[in-house]
Amino acid sequence: MNLVAGKNIVVMGVANDRSIAWAIAQSLASQGARLVFTYENERVEERVRKLAETIPNAAILPCNVTVDEDIDRLAESLKEQFGVLHGIVHSIAFAKTEELEGLFVGTSREGFALAHDISAYSLVAVAQKLYPLMTEGGSIMTMTYLGAERAMKNYNVMGVAKAALEASVRYLANDLGQFNIRVNAISAGPIRTLAAKGIKDFNSILRQVEEKAPLRRTTETAEVGDTALFLMSHLSRGITGEVIYVDNGYHIVGV
Ligand code: NAD
Repeated sequence: MNLVAGKNIVVMGVANDRSIAWAIAQSLASQGARLVFTYENERVEERVRKLAETIPNAAILPCNVTVDEDIDRLAESLKEQFGVLHGIVHSIAFAKTEELEGLFVGTSREGFALAHDISAYSLVAVAQKLYPLMTEGGSIMTMTYLGAERAMKNYNVMGVAKAALEASVRYLANDLGQFNIRVNAISAGPIRTLAAKGIKDFNSILRQVEEKAPLRRTTETAEVGDTALFLMSHLSRGITGEVIYVDNGYHIVGV
């Protein structure tokens, strides 16, 4: 089955081969999608280029989501390359390491604003500039975490930013539904990636999931990739404004 054949999809948030966005890209490529990868800066450009070269017909473009001109340029380039866009994978977040340990009450104004700008507002900014290219309808998805709903140790300001991100998913879904554009989030269980390295005591979080999750294992990026494929495909056409858990059931368990 070619679930996303003929679909033009932009994948934002590959930093290396452990990135969730990379697993999503592999699932999408295996089912015939044409992909454009965006990268944050020159620091990751070479790595992203090498990864993209392993996928037929894939291209790469720069986009730092804190810079409006970058997002405008991305929209122009995608219009030139694709004409029509069918999907956006937003897999981007950032908070200062010092805000990801200790007490949330100590969060700085600057750290709060930065985490929200990169991890929540960027979805709105990207949707705003790219949705006009989705003239045949489309699917937008982002990545979230249980810390949006529960106060989880060390997740702190990122949890608050994820709550804003999940609310943004609902508001965007409500706005863009009239254009047959769907907006959803995947709430993934903890996975050892570059971003996860910033969270203190990450190993103990993984151990707890192994013990308590109904499926008694931690989440693999490929599991997230396949759910993203479903969200980008026609199979999920009735789903919008939703948060789908890919966490081996961890969120249903009482502590
Ligand atoms: P990752 O470090 O591989 O990906 C994070 C990406 O964000 C990187 O590619 C980085 O370049 C990008 N980024 C940061 N600031 C940016 C900016 N200003 N402009 C453009 N890009 C920027 O880590 P990951 O775990 O794959 O994270 C992807 C998403 O998944 C994040 O939203 C994260 O919060 C979410 N998530 C991760 C986990 C986990 O345990 N790893 C669990 C649930 C949700």
